[in-house]
Amino acid sequence: LTQSTLEDITSREDKIGAFLNIIEKKALEQAQTIDARGIRSEVLTDGIPLAVKDNIVTNGIETTAASKILKGWIPPYDATVVEKLYDQGMIIVGKANMDEFAMGGSGENSAVKPTHNAWDLTKVPGGSSSGSASAVASGQVRFSLGSDTGGSIRQPASFNGIVGMKPTYGRVSRWGLIAFASSLDQIGTFSQTVEENAQLLQVISGFDPKDSTSSHFAIPDYTSKIGQDIKGMKIALPKEYFGAGIDESVKAQVLAAAKHFESLGAIVEEVSLPHSKYGVAAYYIIGSSEASSNLQRFDGIRYGYRAQAIKNLEDLYVKTRSEGFGEEVKRRIMLGTYSLSAGFYDAYFKKAGQVRTQIIEDFAKVFGQYDLILAPTAPTVAFDLGSRIDDPIAMYMADILTIPVNLAGLPGISISAGQVDGLPVGMQLIGKRYSEETIYQAAAAFE
Ligand code: GLN
Repeated sequence: LTQSTLEDITSREDKIGAFLNIIEKKALEQAQTIDARGIRSEVLTDGIPLAVKDNIVTNGIETTAASKILKGWIPPYDATVVEKLYDQGMIIVGKANMDEFAMGGSGENSAVKPTHNAWDLTKVPGGSSSGSASAVASGQVRFSLGSDTGGSIRQPASFNGIVGMKPTYGRVSRWGLIAFASSLDQIGTFSQTVEENAQLLQVISGFDPKDSTSSHFAIPDYTSKIGQDIKGMKIALPKEYFGAGIDESVKAQVLAAAKHFESLGAIVEEVSLPHSKYGVAAYYIIGSSEASSNLQRFDGIRYGYRAQAIKNLEDLYVKTRSEGFGEEVKRRIMLGTYSLSAGFYDAYFKKAGQVRTQIIEDFAKVFGQYDLILAPTAPTVAFDLGSRIDDPIAMYMADILTIPVNLAGLPGISISAGQVDGLPVGMQLIGKRYSEETIYQAAAAFE
């Protein structure tokens, strides 16, 4: 299986560009070890290959988060999720391409190369988990891990017509995930089917003493409700998620899906999440502020790239960071440093935190009465490669439907609602904290 997966990867990779690193030798050795000892029948994932986003650190395997500044960095340890994958017999066959440091929504911010959409090579795959999504959609691998800080699992899953889950904040350890915005980052799962997504999330979930925000909450069997009917389940449609700026064809597909949920016995009603419209602004202040702090560690001394012909220590920092970081990463560092600075803190960072509280309260009100929220994942289907690269604001605005979930720490899945002009339309099901199994139940019922 590992051998044929590696063949699937290489035969399609020229066109897709989903990988920064294909891990042939170690993967085959691991597979041989498993062959020699025999598959453990009680371990569902024993011997199953998958891809991992390149911001998840892997012991002995170069990890760059698609940034020049980490070129050549070989981590001396595994992320907790990687340890968990290995414990359950899974085999990492490659490190997936991404937007540099997970900043972006199209995959085009990779310092190495863009990834292509698996349905149409002229379209973006979405981002930032671009490679993780295209690798699954193209059939290079069946599973992958990504990370979602403001939509980076759900939006590329939507653009590629696959299943992408961003779990509740705290469900999955962030130890060994290269930090972008620590209060928002969460690792999650890509797959072709809902049930397999639940099975993979089962492998990586759980409390980790190495991550202070990791949750002690009991981990249920995520597949336990798959196959149960959804009669009487209450699903909310937030009117703000179907408003201006959302493509008519996308809206129509998701409303048709809502009708289908109704025909399966769900009660579907319109609700309001009035502060949604401030989500993008709050996110880009909070996310960039946290990023500006987290990225201080890339100083040319401890990791990866170091500039040459240096005059003194400051020169080393300035040159390394100027040469090592890409445009978008620099933009975020500047934005974040500005909003955290003494004179502007109250006006920006503090205000954004207050907006975040309002957004959390909006969701809490709706979840007092409903089990799930249904909405489009992204305002459009996959757009043309190159078409938005010079317009960061347009790129940021496209995150309007995914960001509130991260600000509130909620779980959300994106699954395919159908197609428009041969491209997949994604919809998200958002749940209460720790209600992943209800999300999987409804997603499987639709599938
Ligand atoms: N597109 C968003 C951003 O650029 C989301 C990124 C993410 O979830 N990692 O910040």
